Amino acid sequence: MDEVTGAQLIAEALKTQNVEFMFGVVGVPIIEVAMAAQAAGVKYVGMRNEQAACYAASAVGYLTGRPAVCLVVSGPGLIHALGGMANANMNCWPVLVIGGSSDRNQETTGAFQEFPQVEACRLYSKFSARPSSLSAIPSVIEKAVRSSIYGRPGACYVDIPGDMVNARVERNRVREVSCCPPPPVSLAEVSAVTQALNVLKTAKCPLLIIGKGAAYGRAEAGLRELVELSGLPFLPTPMGKGVLPDNHPQCVAAARSRALLQADVVVLLGARLNWMLHFGFPPRFSPNVKVIQVDLCPEEMGNNVRPVAALLGDIRAIVTQQLLEILRADQWRYPSDTAWWSTLREKMASNAKISKTLAAQSAVPMNYYTVFHHMARLLPTDCVIVSEGANTMDIGRTMIHNYLPRHRLDAGTFGTMGVGLGFAIAAAMLERDKQTPQRVVCVEGDSAFGFSGMEVETMCRYKLPVIIIVINNNGIYSGLDSDTWREMERAGDMTTLAPPVTLLPDARYEEVMTAFGGGGFLVRTPEELRSALQESLNNTHTPSLINVLIEPSSDRKQQEFPWLTRSNL
Ligand code: ADP
Ligand code: MG
Repeated sequence: MDEVTGAQLIAEALKTQNVEFMFGVVGVPIIEVAMAAQAAGVKYVGMRNEQAACYAASAVGYLTGRPAVCLVVSGPGLIHALGGMANANMNCWPVLVIGGSSDRNQETTGAFQEFPQVEACRLYSKFSARPSSLSAIPSVIEKAVRSSIYGRPGACYVDIPGDMVNARVERNRVREVSCCPPPPVSLAEVSAVTQALNVLKTAKCPLLIIGKGAAYGRAEAGLRELVELSGLPFLPTPMGKGVLPDNHPQCVAAARSRALLQADVVVLLGARLNWMLHFGFPPRFSPNVKVIQVDLCPEEMGNNVRPVAALLGDIRAIVTQQLLEILRADQWRYPSDTAWWSTLREKMASNAKISKTLAAQSAVPMNYYTVFHHMARLLPTDCVIVSEGANTMDIGRTMIHNYLPRHRLDAGTFGTMGVGLGFAIAAAMLERDKQTPQRVVCVEGDSAFGFSGMEVETMCRYKLPVIIIVINNNGIYSGLDSDTWREMERAGDMTTLAPPVTLLPDARYEEVMTAFGGGGFLVRTPEELRSALQESLNNTHTPSLINVLIEPSSDRKQQEFPWLTRSNL
């Protein structure tokens, strides 16, 4: 009699669904699931915390379009993973979380790590279910994988009671389920496309906004042709960066505020009018702005601003098979000598000048601009940039260019701090298997690094040559210098005296890396930074951490609008 265990069924179903990676933290009752996955040819990456494991799995989903698994134990293990599920769901990234749970015959008894897991996951996922029997496992896994990538991508959860893991069933009683194909592709309504182009052609100050939906939807080739054929200015969102290179002559990122404020027609290409785009409201946008939306989620249409045209469907298909077809036939082009282009170019030039002045400051400790200026000159143009931390991420985004799609991962829609190391591990795992692996550079604030700092051990264990650069200002937003800190310590109790934003001054984060055999560098000057970065880039078999001590009060340059402004109109 040919029998299989629950663990084997899960592993085989994942393999059938083309799941390549499983990130997790094992324990009772799911150790056998990880072992069976390895036996079936799914790569298992053991992480140090479920949250980081889930961040890693979701980054694989974003980068490849196929979900990876986050494998967790019951109760607390699953609860730690909820942060990663929420982050993935907010970002519209596919991920499949598989959680062990307490045995079926112990339900409601106060069993070990018992928790209403299927219910708990509903708020953080598109689909949350438990197979009713061993023979249902392949179809539930197929449905979870399919739900994670069809429609708007997101997180899915499958619950596995502990007693199912080692239970056995005859193979011929299990219905085979084949691999779910990539999502079906749909095009926009023809009248919406016509309407969109009519509005666009009459615009005086048009603007294309390229979001991470365009990156996920692999629309880069079509979008480049659209941008170049139409002559329109474009603005990438943080993770839309690199869909077209940041140094493209039509990229107006350096005049972002001005472009948003004065545009009369905005085309949203896989981007949402949420807080990141200031809701599309005044004072950041013109009250009369006309919005054209391209998105595959019908419920997204009309969020905050009613669009003049809603192009519902797959962005790559809409761009290549609809918008480009018509533009080519019409031979329409937005002129390059308009007042709008002059405004944008002037603003870009003056903003570039301010950043350049800040970057050229020779004082030590360095400011953010100086650090990023030197980094940007050494980083390979094809590297994957992972970034988080408030100032580190915001200033770094403007100073470090991306040249390739899906090469920037950051705190994202949910503004989650702690994602960096998990994302970097995922990206490095994918690169490791390529013929010419690209480098993964993780640019972290010191606070952001702390959220999942122990994943440095994971990087060392798998010999992933990630370069972590900690931009260390001794705190959250800003910190204190060590003299002030010590004076405060002498004056009294730090629980009442130390500003809540502060962290230990001059903390030696690089020693976390050397503790596990990776390279560690403490740098204060531009020369030290350059030499540490060069040495780290030369080392292609182990991770490095460069701890950059910067001026604790270094800040962003003066901004035109305070963060998150919103009118009450
Ligand atoms: P950003 O943060 O860059 O603005 P968001 O995550 O807010 O990006 O928005 C991405 C949007 O892209 C989501 O509304 C999502 O539904 C949409 N999207 C994802 N994949 C596709 C696709 N293949 N085609 C069209 N829209 C997509
Ligand atoms: Mg900091």
